[in-house]
Amino acid sequence: MPTSRIREKWRFLTVSSRWDRSTVPIYEASSPGGYVPLLKTLLESPCRNDCAYCALRAGMRCPREAWEPEEIARITLRLWEDGKIRGLFLSSCVRKDPESTVEKQLEALRTLREMGYTGYIHLRLMPGISRHHVREAVELADRLGVNLEAPTGDIFSEMCPSKGDFREVVLKRLEWIVDEVRRAADLRVISTFGFGRAGVDTQMVVGAVHDNDEQYIRMVDRLYRGLGLRRIYFSGFEPIDGTPLEDNPPCPPYREYRLYQVSFLIRDYGFKYEELKGILDDGGFLPNVDPKVALARLEADRFPINLNSADYYEIVRVPGIGPVTARKIIDARKNLKIERLSDLEKILGPTLSRRVAPYIDLKDKRLTYFSKRFQRGST
Ligand code: SF4
Repeated sequence: MPTSRIREKWRFLTVSSRWDRSTVPIYEASSPGGYVPLLKTLLESPCRNDCAYCALRAGMRCPREAWEPEEIARITLRLWEDGKIRGLFLSSCVRKDPESTVEKQLEALRTLREMGYTGYIHLRLMPGISRHHVREAVELADRLGVNLEAPTGDIFSEMCPSKGDFREVVLKRLEWIVDEVRRAADLRVISTFGFGRAGVDTQMVVGAVHDNDEQYIRMVDRLYRGLGLRRIYFSGFEPIDGTPLEDNPPCPPYREYRLYQVSFLIRDYGFKYEELKGILDDGGFLPNVDPKVALARLEADRFPINLNSADYYEIVRVPGIGPVTARKIIDARKNLKIERLSDLEKILGPTLSRRVAPYIDLKDKRLTYFSKRFQRGST
């Protein structure tokens, strides 16, 4: 379900044919090159499960719809050929059981590929499905995942009581997807689409029940560094009337944001759970500051660093410096000794240079002010 924070990324399109009219949801998914319009839909919205936070849980009074596999394939192909979408994001509720749901999803994707569709497919699979279904899904889709929903088995049981064992039906399926994607890569299949080429992802709901950030960070570390997932999404909990959690408070937006920041530190910067643990408070929560700044305060003896000799991992730990900027510095220092703020400004420009200066070993007297700010712990 879209949260209010991303609702503005949706729009609706009416598709008409000689016989019928359908309104389809188009989602502007962010990508490194900008926004990509996807037809994002559930294959079916009746659900037998009773996840405690969900608007579509069994027993909720709401409109329920279902696409026929051939119908979703035909509409996707048409929108794609007309240039209205660049891909399909297909998920589903579980109407009868996970196997019959995934069979319908696969029928839709198979039909779509047989019609000549070579566009992007993002497939959200059901917990508890068979290995052979995972294998076929990997062949058909570009990106795949199973939603973990929770960072631990106990929280999962509380939130999704009818979905089964966390380790067995969810984590194991995620591992199977990763295995099948790696197997396809090893086989070096020649195809311009499918075979999980865009990686594996998952999503967790944050703050629905009693939890803390430490639990998410531990799982993120396991998923990014252990399984090599491409992306982990966090969805801040919002209470929905009529659900068992309707009286629970919503997740503060900053919590979701800080978890994303930490997850990127693990995925893109090489930070590990063990060192990130140091910035958590006694309750296991992140402070509401840039986690890289919090880490720099904790490891103040690492700074200031000498940019002329520091390695990539030392440079990328400086708050304000990301992987691209770190590489830019390493390239630039081949021809430039970085001794003063003005040297740094030649590489990073004035604004970023002043931001990172407190963490850099520079001879420049003008830095006294910045250094004092750093020592005081200002963000
Ligand atoms: S499986 Fe759970 S989260 Fe998914 S639609 Fe059904 S009740 Fe909602």
